[in-house]
Order: sequence, then structure tokens, then C-alpha cells
Amino acid sequence: MLLSKTTDTGLSMKIKSLKVKLIISYSIIAVLSFGILGLLLYRNTKANSLRELKLSLVNQARLVEFQLKPAIVGQPDTLILEKLAQDLSSRINLRLTVVEASGKVLFDSEKTTLDTEKMDNHAGRAEVSLALDGAVGEEIRFSDTLKIDMLYVAVPVKVKDNIAAVVRLAMPLTSIETMLYTIRRDIVLTVIMVLVLMFVLGIVFTSSIVKPLNKIINVSKKFSAGDFSHRVYYEANDEIGELARTLNKMAKDIEDKIASVSSQSQQLTAIFNSMIEGVIVTDKSGVIVSINQAVEDIFKVSRQEAEGKLFLEAVRNNEIYEVIQNILGKGRFFSKEITLHLPVQRVFEVNATPIFKDASVNGALVVIHDITEIRRLETVRRDFVANVSHELKTPLTSIKGFIETLLEGALEDKENNRNFLKIIQSHADRLDALVNDLLSLSHLESKEIRVDKTDFDLNAQIEEVLRGFKSHLKAKGIEVENAVLKNLKVSADKDRIHQVLVNLIDNAIKFNKEKGSIKLYAESVNGNLKVIVEDSGMGIPSKDIPRIFERFYRVDKARSRELGGTGLGLSIVKHIIELHNGAVGVESTEGLGSKFWFTLPK
Ligand code: ADP
Repeated sequence: MLLSKTTDTGLSMKIKSLKVKLIISYSIIAVLSFGILGLLLYRNTKANSLRELKLSLVNQARLVEFQLKPAIVGQPDTLILEKLAQDLSSRINLRLTVVEASGKVLFDSEKTTLDTEKMDNHAGRAEVSLALDGAVGEEIRFSDTLKIDMLYVAVPVKVKDNIAAVVRLAMPLTSIETMLYTIRRDIVLTVIMVLVLMFVLGIVFTSSIVKPLNKIINVSKKFSAGDFSHRVYYEANDEIGELARTLNKMAKDIEDKIASVSSQSQQLTAIFNSMIEGVIVTDKSGVIVSINQAVEDIFKVSRQEAEGKLFLEAVRNNEIYEVIQNILGKGRFFSKEITLHLPVQRVFEVNATPIFKDASVNGALVVIHDITEIRRLETVRRDFVANVSHELKTPLTSIKGFIETLLEGALEDKENNRNFLKIIQSHADRLDALVNDLLSLSHLESKEIRVDKTDFDLNAQIEEVLRGFKSHLKAKGIEVENAVLKNLKVSADKDRIHQVLVNLIDNAIKFNKEKGSIKLYAESVNGNLKVIVEDSGMGIPSKDIPRIFERFYRVDKARSRELGGTGLGLSIVKHIIELHNGAVGVESTEGLGSKFWFTLPK
């Protein structure tokens, strides 16, 4: 603020000085030109007037000489000469002096006869001396007698080739001085008037230059403050007009560029923030420049808190800190897998790359990729392969063992051979069930699966499934209650829902106690139909509940196998229901029973 104020004053000072400079230069030019002109005029006038004056004085002197000559030549009669000279002098109103060839003054119109006689010898006076030499003598000299500058003109009075006397006229230069004084005064007055005029015109002219410049300056100030929406309105076809147009074009270009840059930056910010990967940008000293939403979520830190702080101050993670230090130190791409334990364990792949400026590391870009799900899926796949192999191997080993036993002689053992074959058959059934379930699962997981929806009666469907389990129910003495409303229509893939009911009821029987009970009912929840299979069986420990729908997950492996389970039943249920956009779940209390449920959108 203070800075811009200083600049403002600086600018206005410059403008003021420009105005003053222009006026001063105008005035100097005017004063100089008029001064020189006046001086030349003055000198010219002075010289001309003097020349004219001299010429007229010489002519008058000649006339006087002509008039006086007879009185001077021959036997000069002083009285006649004096009278004539006095008469001429008063007529031409000039001082007249007549000097003898010897230099003695014969007559002077300004002196009495007595005084004339006392006058010094005039042969030494420059004009007299020249006239005595036969020329026309002239001189301007300060007259001691009259105490003013006088112009003296002397002409010789020639008698044949001799110079008998000199007639001298003298004139005070006061009239010339007066005239020159008037000229001088006029010149000075003119210069003063020109100065005043120049000053007024200068103000008008410089305003016409400074005004648009001021406009330009005001708009430029807006530009420098970052506001490029203003324009200089000055259309004149001169240099300032050109400057204004160039400035306007520049502002428009900058405005366009800013708009495009800001839209790009908005896009980048949007991309940056919507990235699933966490992104951290630091400067060369490890201070966080920016983080995105994903980083805020992963490390539970807000952008305002983190940006501008050293990484470890904002995010307490030593492993990533070391990655950043490594990048800033070595300037090479770096990748590392890290595990965070809070609040749940998550695995991240951290890729960091240096940001270069002029070939030196200027910062670090860290991208954090959540690979928890990838790692989990890898584990699931590994476990699945191991589980499948294990599940297949157990019955196969038994079958192989019993076949070997039979071949080694047990075939002849009438008492046991059938038993052995029955055991082989049961293991083969297990293998068959396992392969069937695996095929169902792989089919359900394949993308090509189609849900063939029809409207059917759920109650009737349950009754049909229960009929299939009649002998099992009877054997265990289990009571079944189908409390689902009669004629309750559902829209779903009938065969697959049949499979779901078979798996759930099978489990409800298998994991039930002797003379236990099973109840099936349906209710409407949030616009969905919720079907519940409730049993009075052994229940499921709460620690196993979250994983019960996983493939091959069983609470008690041995018992499940014994009961002919494959560990895939619930997994198949989950897949089928999810294909119908429904959900599955279980509520269970160990030792009291379980409630398995699934929902179907209505
Ligand atoms: P299985 O072939 O073993 O029945 P499932 O996927 O159907 O495989 O079930 C997985 C495991 O869930 C079972 O082994 C059992 O431990 C448990 N389970 C399933 N249903 C029930 C139930 N109704 N009561 C208690 N435990 C159950």
C-alpha cells in the first residue's frame, strides 16, 4: 500500500515536471527567438538611424559650408561670419562651429565671441583633423561642454586645393537615444507578452498531452493492481492514441490469457482434488505446497493446517518423510509400500518423483495409492487357490487310499468291501458337490450372468424347497414354520432364489440342534422385501460373523465337512442376492441360534 502510494506520488511528480518542462522549453524558445530578433532589430535600427543622421548632418554641413565659404575665404570679416553662422545655426537648430585651418575656433554657436577666443585649439579633434585632411570627419563623443553624447560632422572649406577652414556641425544624440529606448522598451514588452502568451498556451497545449497521459496512468495503475477490465478511452490518431490502443490490446490479451490460465488451473484443481490417489507437493526444503482431498482423508489433516508447514509438522509419518528426503536429496524417482494402522490397516504404494527447475531439484511430488483392496484381492485369490486345492485333495487322498486298500486285498474282504466303496462314493459325492458349487460360483462371478426375472409366489417357493428337505427335517425332528404370507409375489430369478433358499435352509438344518426349530418370514424394510430364515441352532461366534459369507470360510471346518458342507453355500447366496441388487446379513447369538436374511428390491 505504502509502496503504491510512493509510486503514485512519483508518477504525478513526473507528470508535473513534464508540464513544467514543456512550458519552460516553450518559453525559452520564445524568449530566445524574440530576444535575438529584437536585438538584431535594435542594432539594425540603431545603425540605420545613425547612418541617416550622419548623412543628413553631412549634407547640412555641406550646405552651411557653401553658405559660409564667401565669408571665410579672402579677407574674413569676423562680424559677417558670426552673424551668418549664428543665423544658419539657429535655422538648422544645430551647434555650428567654424575652425580655422590652424585649429583656432573662429565661431561656435554655443559660445559668445569672448568665450570662443578662449576655446582650445580644435585641430586635434578627430572629426576636425579628418576634415583638415580633406575628408568628411565624423565622430560620436561625449561633450564636456554639454555633458551628453554628441555626433560631430566636419567638412573642409576648400579654396582651390587648400583647406581654409572646417565647418563642423554637432547634434546631441538624445533623439536617437529616445528612439532606441522606445525600441528597447517595445522589445522587452513584446518578450514579456510572448512569455505570458506562451505560458497560457503552454498550459493549454501541455494539458492536451498530459490529460490523456493521466488517463493512461490511471488505467495502468488498475492494471498493475491486477484489474484488466478497464480501458483507456482516447481515440486520437497520434502517438498517445497509439499508446492507448496498444495498452488496451495488451490488457485484453492479458485478460484472455488470465481467463484461460485460470480455467486451466480450475480444471487442474478439480482433477487434483477428485483424484483417488493422494497427492502431496513440497518445495525444495520439504515444506508442503499443496495436498489434495485424498491426503486430507488418509492422514486426517486439513489443507489449511498442512500447507506451508514442514511435512513432519503436518503429517506424522516417518516413512513418507524419508521418501521425500530421499527424493530431495537424490533427485530420482522412488517407490515404496507403506502400511498405516490407524484406524484400520491400509496398504499404500508411495510413488515420489522430483520436481526440477533449471536442472536442480526444486521440490517433490508424492503420489499415494491405496492398494489395500488390491492386496486383499491378491490374498483372497491365493487363499482361494490354496483352499480349493486343499478341499479337493482331502477327498481325493481318501479315495486313493481306499482304492489302494481294496486293490491290496480288501476287495475280497466280504465284510468291508462294500463299506469301503460307500466311503469312496461319499467322497466322490463331496467332490461332485464341491465342483458343482465351484462351477456355480465361477458362473455367478462371470460377467455374462443374466438375471432372468419373473413374478412368483415366495410362499409356494419355500414350500417346494421344504418338501426337498422333508426327510432331513424328519431325521433331526426339526419343526419348520413358513410364516411368509401366502401369495406374496416377488420379482426375481426363480431358480436362483430357489438355490438361495436351499442353501440357507440346508444350513439351518445342518447347524441346528436335535428337535430344534426353523422359522421363515418376510417383512418390508425401506421399500425392500426382507426374507429371514431363523433357526434355533448353535449360532455363530461374533468374531466369525464378518467373514461368514467369504468363500470356504467355516466356523468349524471339520464339522462342516462331516456334514457334507463345501464352505461355498453362503458365498453363492451372497452372489445371487447381489445380482438382484439386494443385500445379505446375519444376526446370531452363539448357542441360541441365527437369523440369516436377504433383501430383494420390490
Ligand atoms: P457350509 O457348506 O460349511 O455350510 P456355508 O458357506 O453354507 O458352508 O456356511 C459357512 C459356515 O457358516 C458354516 O460352515 C458354518 O460354520 C456357518 N453357518 C452357516 N449357516 C449357519 C447356521 N444357520 N448356524 C450356524 N452356523 C452357520
